[in-house]
Amino acid sequence: MNSVTVRVPAKVNLQLAVGPLRDDGYHDLVNVFHAVSIFDEVTAVAETGMSVRVEGESADQVPEDGDNLAIQAAVALARHAGRSYGVSLAIRKAIPVAGGMAGGSADAAAALVACNELWGLGLPLEDLMEIASDLGSDVPFALLGGTAVGTGRGERLAPLEVGGTFHWVFALADGGLSTAKVYGECDRIRQEGGEPVGHPRAAEPLLAALRAGDARALGAELTNDLQPAALSLRGSLARTLQAGRAHGALGAIVSGSGPTCAFLAESEAHAETLAAALKTENVARDVLTAHGPVPGPTVVQGPPGRAQRIPLSHDESGQS
Ligand code: ATP
Repeated sequence: MNSVTVRVPAKVNLQLAVGPLRDDGYHDLVNVFHAVSIFDEVTAVAETGMSVRVEGESADQVPEDGDNLAIQAAVALARHAGRSYGVSLAIRKAIPVAGGMAGGSADAAAALVACNELWGLGLPLEDLMEIASDLGSDVPFALLGGTAVGTGRGERLAPLEVGGTFHWVFALADGGLSTAKVYGECDRIRQEGGEPVGHPRAAEPLLAALRAGDARALGAELTNDLQPAALSLRGSLARTLQAGRAHGALGAIVSGSGPTCAFLAESEAHAETLAAALKTENVARDVLTAHGPVPGPTVVQGPPGRAQRIPLSHDESGQS
C-alpha cells in the first residue's frame, strides 16, 4: 500500500479546570474533551524522506517543516519502530489554526494512524497513545475521540459514555491565540487577584448531563478557567459570546485557549438558526455548525476492508 488518508475531528473542552502552576511550569488540569464534526484530513504517501504540505483553512499559518506536529508524529513513530521510514504528508485543514480546537494535535494523531497503516506496523492504539502523550497533552485525546475526561496535563484519559448527540455552533475569530500566552495571562490574573487556586475536579453535574444526553443541563454546566484570560487578551470575544446567548444558545464558552467560541444549541435546526444569526451580527470571521461526540481518527482511504476506525482494544466509549 502506498497511500492512506485519515480523517480526524476537532475538539471542544466542555470543562477546562486549571489548577495552580506547578514547579515544572505545567498546570494540573481536569479537561472534559468532546470531539466534534469539523475534520482535517491527512494523507500519507510512501516516500524516501519526510515532508509535509498543508492546504485549506489558514494553511499559510501552519509550518511545512519539522515544526509541523504531524511530521513530528511520523518521526516519533518511525523511531519507536526502530526503522528509517519515509513519508510525504498532505494535510487538508478545516479545523481553525491556533483556534483552541487542537488542530495541530488532531493532525499529529491522524499522522500516527496513517503511518501505522502505511508502514504496516500494526501497532495497537495503546502503543500509539504512549507516543502521542510525548507529542503533546492534547494528542492522546485526538487519538481517542468521543468524549473523555483528561487529568494530569490532560494526557490521562477516561472515556465517558454520552447519552445523545449535541449540536454546536462555532464562531471563528480572525487570527489565533497562543496557548502559552493564554496560560501566562491566566497565571497573571490569578496572581493579581490573590485568591488561592484549588485542585481541579471533574464537575459531577456536567458528567450527569452528558450521561443523560441533556443539552439544557449541559449548557448550564460548561466552564472554562482559561476564559477570563482569553477575554483579557481578546476583548471582542465578550461580544461574540453575548450575541450567542442573546440568540438562545444553551451555553456559550471560549473553546480551550480560544479564540474560537462554542455555543450549544437545542437541536440541529436551532444550530442552523443560531449560526445564521451570528453571521448577521458580524461577530465572527466565519461560523460553523457541528455535532458531537464523533469517533477519533478514521481511515477513509486505504486497503480494501480496512476503511474503519482502528479500534481501541478496551474501548468503553461506545461511540465508535
Ligand atoms: P490547543 O487547543 O491544543 O491549544 P490550538 O487549536 O489553539 O491548540 P493549533 O491549531 O494546534 O492550536 O495550532 C497551534 C500552533 O501549532 C500554531 O501556531 C501552528 O502554527 C502550529 N502547528 C504545528 N503543526 C500544526 C498543524 N499540523 N496544524 C495546525 N497547527 C500546527
